[in-house]
Amino acid sequence: MLTQARIESLVAEEMAHVRALRHDLHRHPELMFQEKRTSECVRRELEELGIEHVSGLAGGTGVLGVIPATSDPGSAPTIALRADMDALPIHEATGAPYASQTPGVMHACGHDGHTAILIGAARVLSRLSERPNNVMLVFQPAEEGGFGGEKMCAEGALSGKVCGRPVDEIYGLHGWPMNELGTVSTRVGPLLAATDEFVLTVTGKGGHAAAPHHAVDPVLASAHIITALQSIVARRVNPMDSVVVTVAAIHAGEANNVIPDSVEMRGTIRALRHETRSLAEREFRRIVTGVASSFGCEAEIQWLAGYPVTVNHEAPVERFRAIARRAIGEARVIDEPFPTMGGEDFAYYGQHVPACFFLLGLKPKGASSYPLVHTPRFDFNDDALPLGVELMARLAATPR
Ligand SMILES: [Zn+2]
Ligand SMILES: [Zn+2]
Repeated sequence: MLTQARIESLVAEEMAHVRALRHDLHRHPELMFQEKRTSECVRRELEELGIEHVSGLAGGTGVLGVIPATSDPGSAPTIALRADMDALPIHEATGAPYASQTPGVMHACGHDGHTAILIGAARVLSRLSERPNNVMLVFQPAEEGGFGGEKMCAEGALSGKVCGRPVDEIYGLHGWPMNELGTVSTRVGPLLAATDEFVLTVTGKGGHAAAPHHAVDPVLASAHIITALQSIVARRVNPMDSVVVTVAAIHAGEANNVIPDSVEMRGTIRALRHETRSLAEREFRRIVTGVASSFGCEAEIQWLAGYPVTVNHEAPVERFRAIARRAIGEARVIDEPFPTMGGEDFAYYGQHVPACFFLLGLKPKGASSYPLVHTPRFDFNDDALPLGVELMARLAATPR
């Protein structure tokens, strides 16, 4: 097909721009809901391309762009492509020449890469003389725990209410340091986990460390709670299903010889099915309350519901695979064997329309490892940009 070969050469032509844009975004990372410069950058790019767009969404920094089909957009399907724009509160240690200029903030999850890729795809698509589908470009804020995707959906990003026409299906990608450069990977069903969090306060009665019988020790109770919580994983959830219970922070006491009044614990629970997610929450509450009371303590649970499970639908996954195989060959399109227990607010889009989230390999061939996301040395691999742009453009430009 003429269009397919054309996409390849257009991607090559746009690469210098996409790379420069990625470096610029990397140099100026912004935390969730503060993506003002990034959002303005995206808006300007779309404006220069003559792409209809609406900004100021989802708390002020979300942007939607619409590229209409070249013939009869009124009856053409609409395919949405999504990128996230926010950075993380981590101090960069990559030593890259384009490293963050904001101390304590960096693009440690590669959202600079995602945003640059989507702009690249927009540039390629706007240069095609034939487009069978309408394309909705979704630039969302606050993926890192701010529910930006949920807000975009609630404001009508997929319904055609804001601009364009109702979306028929949506695709999103994440740079993946565990997978090899030049590969893409996805799976039908759950790909990423639900991400609930908790803050737990166990209260007893403080006292002299040498007279524990006059106190009610919340530290001992907490130790039992932490241990018992793992029985959710080991004994309550079907061994063929998956759940993670992590107590990640414990704060209590200050002196060697004082039993404190209370202990605070924080952590997260991850699950891959809605039913398991509810089961884990129910068991968590039962164990915490029960164990605390058996030690004479009281427990206060603050439950922070996070993102739902990111579930990929069969039809868009099959479409993605067919398009990716045509582009890069069978061997480089991997069927991801397991979901991962990280989370993504891409999950929300999939609750409205058929969705496929896929992983774009970042690890250079032959390298034993690549810095992981959410660490100070992570940097989105520029060499993965062309494949990201090409696949996003092909997903949008291939007849549905
Ligand atoms: Zn992240
Ligand atoms: Zn991310």
